[in-house]
Amino acid sequence: MLDWLQPGITLAGCENASPLERIDTRLLLMHGLGLTRIQLITCSEQALDASQAQVLRELFQRRLHGEPIAYIVQEREFFGLNFHVTPDVLIPRPDTELLVELALKYAPPDSSLLDLGTGSGAIAISVAHQRPDLTVCALDISPAALAVAQENARQHLRPGQLELLQSDWYQAVAGRKFNTIVSNPPYIVKGDHHLSEGDLRFEPLSALTDHGDGLSAYRSLINQAHLHLQSRGWILMEHGYDQAEAVRDLLTRAGLVKAQSWRDLAGIERVSGAQLQK
Ligand code: GLN
Repeated sequence: MLDWLQPGITLAGCENASPLERIDTRLLLMHGLGLTRIQLITCSEQALDASQAQVLRELFQRRLHGEPIAYIVQEREFFGLNFHVTPDVLIPRPDTELLVELALKYAPPDSSLLDLGTGSGAIAISVAHQRPDLTVCALDISPAALAVAQENARQHLRPGQLELLQSDWYQAVAGRKFNTIVSNPPYIVKGDHHLSEGDLRFEPLSALTDHGDGLSAYRSLINQAHLHLQSRGWILMEHGYDQAEAVRDLLTRAGLVKAQSWRDLAGIERVSGAQLQK
């Protein structure tokens, strides 16, 4: 599969011979050779030396074994920013940009926002980056994930702009209230076949599934929302393609008002939320 990857082949030759998707090939060439996007184009006739060919062979081999490209190059773009990612965190998805857009829309000026299960920090950091007026707090139960989020906050935010705490859901913010709450919790049902396919095989299981019916995180988040929301504050959560109605139902039963769902670019109800009335 990689016989073509020998010393002497040019970068353009690699792009033509690679069995991977063109975007993956380019990302691996840039990462393996330390090139920018522009350099990759301007150096296309440059030939690989022996050590470069060896480095690239290892990277291409990992991708051919199914490892997600984001974990190999250790970064993924989300909402216009580059996020450091490791196998300790979920790879940020384009679908989740909808949650960021809604958070930006619903968070009042100079207010506070809480992100539960922040992972790489993609949601909290994207919001804070766009809205320096907000006070943002992000929680995760995983110390390894928090280390990744910390690194991303250092890259993209001013010191102190994001408060990061280790927490089992609301535990570390007992007694505190926020104007807006957001979360992209684990929502895949136990045993769902997607968990054993594609990129998901390499992602942290605890970020993907609740090991139950897919709704247990929403129960925890929604049932205590009234303790952590300011009056008229919104809670907004991403969920699976078939969970909008169940999440709206939980929101309404918890006494929150204006429960509604928003569609992603594929037309799928992807985020649901509601407001605390008083
Ligand atoms: N959107 C992810 C997927 O379906 C799941 C993320 C999550 O569980 N929060 O692959």
